[in-house]
Amino acid sequence: MHILSIPMWVGSSNNYAYLVSDDETKDAVIIDPANPPEVLPVLEDKSKSLNLTAIINTHHHWDHAGGNKKILAAYPNLLVIAGKDSEAVSTTPSHGSTFSIGKNIQVTALHTPCHTQDSICWYMEDKATDDRVVFTGDTLFIGGCGKFFEGNGTEMNKALNEILAALPDDTKVFPGHEYTKSNVKFLKTIDGENEAVQRLDKFANENKETQGKFTIGQEKAHNAFMRTSSDEMKKVTGKSEPHEVMAVLREMKNAS
Ligand SMILES: [Zn+2]
Repeated sequence: MHILSIPMWVGSSNNYAYLVSDDETKDAVIIDPANPPEVLPVLEDKSKSLNLTAIINTHHHWDHAGGNKKILAAYPNLLVIAGKDSEAVSTTPSHGSTFSIGKNIQVTALHTPCHTQDSICWYMEDKATDDRVVFTGDTLFIGGCGKFFEGNGTEMNKALNEILAALPDDTKVFPGHEYTKSNVKFLKTIDGENEAVQRLDKFANENKETQGKFTIGQEKAHNAFMRTSSDEMKKVTGKSEPHEVMAVLREMKNAS
């Protein structure tokens, strides 16, 4: 599969849209094309060589799903595959259900309610190249997680540490925002001795973009929100149950 990152609102909200295509058939989907002025020129250029079939959203927030109608105005035949609250949604795959992009990419919908109740992470496997990736929206960031706008620590703990943690460790993570620098700054205050945090810090200092550069296995090592069962995070939060550790970590990050 080929993944083209389209940075949007760089320097303010630092969102990413992603254009994902099957190498063999050139069938493609656009994920979270929230800012049409930055996305449409790319689609215009790439649609000459690709067959764009759908918009996919990770959740309904305007900086992810707010461009759907304008994209549809230019490409009226696209499906909108998203949670129930997304603009112009046409279908919402159930948790664990699958569909294909072209011949080789199998997509699995992973419902991860918390940041919003309609948050869905999209796990994609390329059967031809054996690549595995997950588009996590505002549920999982590199070194962090989204705010609990519509959920609680129990839900985010399930999302990160049961659902996403069950993916193969070599699955590459493509989040909805470039927040790594701010996330690693927080990680250093609570888990600075962790060598994986130090490696993430070095990478974030040397690279403006971190999407797709880290895997689920690496997140389990450096991301405090995926370490809610660890002795270190229990000690930092003063809690013993993973969902309580999650809730306290989120409060600490909000206050940082
Ligand atoms: Zn959001």
